[in-house]
Amino acid sequence: MSQHSDFTVTLLGTGVPVPSPDRFGSSTLVEAGDQKLLIDAGRGAAIRLFQLKVPLGRLDALFLTHYHSDHTSGIPDVWLTGWLESFFGTRRAPLRVIGPTGAKVLMSKLAEAYAADIKIRLADEKLPPEGVATAVEEFDRDGRVYEKNGVKVIAFEVDHGDLIKPAYGYRIEYGGRVAVVSGDTRYNENVIKHAAGADLLIHEVAAARPELMQEAYMQRILGHHITPRDAGRVFAQTKPKLAAYTHLALLGSDKIPPPTLDELIAETRQTYAGPVEVGEDLMAFDIGENVVVRRFAR
Ligand SMILES: [Zn+2]
Ligand SMILES: [Zn+2]
Repeated sequence: MSQHSDFTVTLLGTGVPVPSPDRFGSSTLVEAGDQKLLIDAGRGAAIRLFQLKVPLGRLDALFLTHYHSDHTSGIPDVWLTGWLESFFGTRRAPLRVIGPTGAKVLMSKLAEAYAADIKIRLADEKLPPEGVATAVEEFDRDGRVYEKNGVKVIAFEVDHGDLIKPAYGYRIEYGGRVAVVSGDTRYNENVIKHAAGADLLIHEVAAARPELMQEAYMQRILGHHITPRDAGRVFAQTKPKLAAYTHLALLGSDKIPPPTLDELIAETRQTYAGPVEVGEDLMAFDIGENVVVRRFAR
């Protein structure tokens, strides 16, 4: 647990499918009281947890927003490395996975894919079989999906495009405070409904320079995500103590560079005047009376 607050959200990966060393795949750590919850496990989630000195085996549950691989490709690493008998692992109980319909198939097929490794380590390293088991819970509608020791997690459907279903966001409640993670979504009323008055709203975003916005492939990408102007509308309507961007899809071409972070904020300012932060990997938010931003000291 962070010494700064008993309710902390840390962005582990703020990137998109681009295999960037600076922005890893989508993953967010929520520490609330004695619990550690992971929302999505994109590329590099295990590395980021290691940097935070959070043992992989220490996670209480993994929540999945949707099944795009940039949100799930880190699962086998978190799951299997977390089973190893070392300070960074030592899971001795089943990994609890909570996600929309599809989580059971994903986890059972991963167990099939890694059956040889699991068999070998059971026999060779005598690792406990419970530690590699998974306990998967699926849901197919809005509602509470987790409740333990005062921590409540509510899933809500979002709009990531007509063909990208299911897709959900999460609202985490603890000690009268609220953090919301949008998941991948375009402008969506259900986000506004579930994030209204939240202390912290973490939202995805996608942006391109106006010259590029007219291109067909850009329209297609932007049709699955939210523009900074529209994200600003969401922030203005929900009025969080702090809004923060993650999943930064800053799009460019061989001729037109991607927007800068300053331009991203300038666009957001067209529709929103309140507090907003551009997330970066390992940026942490301590949610107390106010929301305090901490950058990772490398
Ligand atoms: Zn997606
Ligand atoms: Zn994504």
